[in-house]
This record gives sequence, structure tokens and C-alpha cells, in this order.
Amino acid sequence: MVQDAIDLQSMSTIQKVLNRQREFFQTGQTKDIGFRLRQLKALRQAVLDHQSLIVQALAADLRKPEFEAYATEVGVVGEIDHAIKHLKTWAKPTRVSVPLTLFPSSAQIIPEPLGVVLIISPWNYPFQLMISPLVGAIAAGNCAILKPSEVAPQTSQAIADLMQKTFDPSYITVVEGGVDTSQALLQERYDHIFFTGGTEVGRIVMAAAAPHLTPVTLELGGKSPCIVDTDIHLDHAARRIVWGKFLNAGQTCIAPDYLFVNRKVKAALMSALVETVQAFYGSDPAVSPDYARLISDRHFERVSRLLGAGTTVIGGQTDRSDRYIAPTILDDVSPHDPVMQDEIFGPILPVLTYDDVEEAIAFVNERPKPLALYIFSRDSQVQNRVLSATSSGTVCINDTVMQVTASNLPFGGVGESGMGSYHGKSSFDTFSHRKSVLSSSFWLDIKGRYAPYAGKLDFLKKIIMGG
Ligand code: NAD
Repeated sequence: MVQDAIDLQSMSTIQKVLNRQREFFQTGQTKDIGFRLRQLKALRQAVLDHQSLIVQALAADLRKPEFEAYATEVGVVGEIDHAIKHLKTWAKPTRVSVPLTLFPSSAQIIPEPLGVVLIISPWNYPFQLMISPLVGAIAAGNCAILKPSEVAPQTSQAIADLMQKTFDPSYITVVEGGVDTSQALLQERYDHIFFTGGTEVGRIVMAAAAPHLTPVTLELGGKSPCIVDTDIHLDHAARRIVWGKFLNAGQTCIAPDYLFVNRKVKAALMSALVETVQAFYGSDPAVSPDYARLISDRHFERVSRLLGAGTTVIGGQTDRSDRYIAPTILDDVSPHDPVMQDEIFGPILPVLTYDDVEEAIAFVNERPKPLALYIFSRDSQVQNRVLSATSSGTVCINDTVMQVTASNLPFGGVGESGMGSYHGKSSFDTFSHRKSVLSSSFWLDIKGRYAPYAGKLDFLKKIIMGG
């Protein structure tokens, strides 16, 4: 059972865990690439061995459909494999050229582990969002303390069991618990904090890191717009939007939060969206095995309050006892409606309309920079205009959510949607220090830079300013 147990996870316990990990890091074992590869392989095997337990835990916490559990959570094995395949290359020092003034020196950048890192994760993809950053932490040679979300208690427990069976706790440890535990952990000094969660908690994490000057990666949220212009494949667009929005019952940080649709295609798109929702989840999504539930009563109440804006095109039904909210599309929504204020993080898709794509661009730019932005259009001028005129953590053109699956694309936010990035090599870089090394030799000593400077200034000016 997960406990918000500050008495159990007391400061002294946390300090003990931390000290043990510091000692382990000091042994230098994690610097060995062979060690890191063995740990990544052990992690991979542990995920495979625990797959049924993970899927069951996700079903208990979120009624996550088995297909979604494999596609979006157990599928993190792909991220482990990518790291195993590329680690030796990532870890190699990079030689860089030096200016002539440094002759006869050479220069290189050596990636080195940071030390002991803290990873705090949320409840919506509670397994994947813990394991994925951990892959980077291990690949880069760090020890790690993991704090899963207490809001997905079964998955938190499954992660704790898996880690306990797989790793020496002096190397990787799970500390389960709620906000108090998280805050107790945050009082300590780490070499990096990797946080995934809401923007407001992100501020708390950054403030807690400041006294220790601990660097932070903040993977936050926000309202991710989906702009739909005229030149589209209607059915493909509808399927990709409906899937990305209602996956995990809308509890996806990069779900298209709202649609901004060109008036010329609006009617046709709305019919296609409605047909698609029915095709995916049937006439009564409450009995569909492919549709998840809201994580908690609190989130059920929060999202339910957002219903009722504009005109309900499909959905709107709720069942408190089951934490069920039907996949819902709202038309004629005003930017002032509550559903347009904060990240929805639930199965409601509000639709706004534009006549000129510049209106959509202006709308996006008046708000905090989103984590993801979606453009549906075959027209490269429209694509490029939106790309160049807006800023967002990621962009996906003519699809939703799938950008997250490309390991070579850094994943992260900008502005209020976060700072730093991960996935693939970006994870390795996030958990590494790029140490710059200039190496000189004794066989030549050009005395031009030494005092006394008399008679040397003109030559210096020539070197630095040319001519
Ligand atoms: P949250 O911020 O409430 O919680 C995340 C973690 O922080 C949990 O482990 C929790 O125990 C801890 N926490 C909560 N309140 C805290 C506090 N006051 N002090 C210290 N620690 C605290 O987020 P959530 O509700 O679990 O997840 C939803 C949010 O996460 C959404 O905003 C979503 O967009 C965002 N998210 C972002 C990404 C991403 O990759 N950028 C991915 C998933 C979710």
C-alpha cells in the first residue's frame, strides 16, 4: 500500500537512502559502460517479467485498456532498446577543433554522470513516465531515487516491487508516498531533479531546487492546440484527432486540448469526428473495453465541471460511481468558458472556429507556450506559417501524439510547458555533464601572452581583430 507516510519515509530515512547512493556513486561503478549496459538489460528483462502485473496495475488505477497499456506504457521497452543500441556512441568523448592561438592543444567534450538524481513522476502514464527518464539516468551513469505518483497507487507499488527485485537500493531506490513525501525528498540536495507533472507543482519543485542550485528538468503541461485547415484527408484527420484526444480518457499531457477549425471544413469535420467516436467506442462508450476512466474522484469532479459549455455534439454523459465521462465534443465554445482556461486533462474536446489561420496563430500566441501543437493541412505554406509564427515544445503535422514515439526527437516543453528535454540521446544528455577538456603540451610555449606586455599589444590586436 502506498502511504503518505512521512513517519516512515522520514527525513532521516531519506537522508540514509541518499547517503547510501552517494557512497555507491563514489565507488565509480556506474562510470563503467559495461555496468550501465547490464543495468539497462536487467531493466528490460524486469519489464518483460512484470508485464502482466504492470498491465493489471494500470487497469486497477485507470481502467487502462490492455492495448493502451502495451502501446503507451510497456512499450517503453523500445526506449530501453534504443539506449542499449546507442549508449557506446553517446558516451564517447567528442573531439572539437581549437583556434590557432591554442596551438599545440587539443580539445574534447567528455560526458560524465551527474551523481544521484531524483525522478518524480505523475499518474497518467505512471509506468512509462517513470521508466523513460530512468533509462536516461542509468545510461548516463547515475544513481536514482524514484518517487512515483501516489494517485496511481497500484502502479506505484508495481514500480517499487520491480525496482526492489532488480536493483541494489544503493543504486536505484523507490520512495513511495504523496505530497508530503515528495516535499521531504525535495528538501535534500541532488545532482539533478527530473520532474513530470503540473505547471504549478513544477514551480514548487524549481523553488525547492534553488537553494541547492540543483539543475531541474521540468516536463509540464498546458493547453495543446490542434489547428485544422482546409486541405486535409477528412477521415484520417478525424481518426487521428479522436484517438489522440480520447486515449487514456483524455489524460495525456500532449493530447490535443482544443480544436481550432477552418470554418470551410468545420461541418464536414464535426460529422467525421462524431462518426469516429462511435466507430471507436460504440454507441455507449461506458461499456467499451477500450475506454479508460478518470483517475480519481477529484479529477472526475474537476473535469465534469467543464461540461456544459457551448453545444454538446456528442457525449456529455457521466457516472460518478464509475468515474466515467463519455468522450465529449463541444461546439460553439467561447474562449472565456472554463473549459478554455486551463489544461482539460480529460475527455472533452472543445471546438473553436476561424476564417483565417492568422486568427488561430494570434490565439495561440496570446497564451502560454504549449507542450504540443498540431497542424492538420497538406498545404506547406500553412504548415510553415504556423511553424514559424508559433512556439511550442513539440509539433506534429497531420497526426497527434505520435511525435512522442520518435526517440531521435527531443521531447520537452518551452516556457510554461517546461524546460529541458529527454528521449533517446536527449535523455543521455539531460543526465550527463558535458565536461570540456582542453589539453596542452610542454613542447612549445609561446610567450606572447605573458607579462611584461610592452610591445605586444599591436600584435594581440591583430590576432583578435584581424587586419
Ligand atoms: P502533479 O504535478 O500533481 O504530481 C506530479 C508528482 O508531483 C506526483 O508524484 C506528486 O506526488 C508530486 N506532487 C504533487 N504535488 C506536490 C507538491 N505540492 N509538492 C511536491 N510534490 C508534489 O501532476 P499529476 O496530476 O500527477 O499529472 C498531471 C499533470 O502532469 C498535467 O498537468 C500534465 O500535463 C502533466 N504531465 C506532463 C507530462 C510531460 O511529459 N510534459 C507528462 C504527463 C503529465
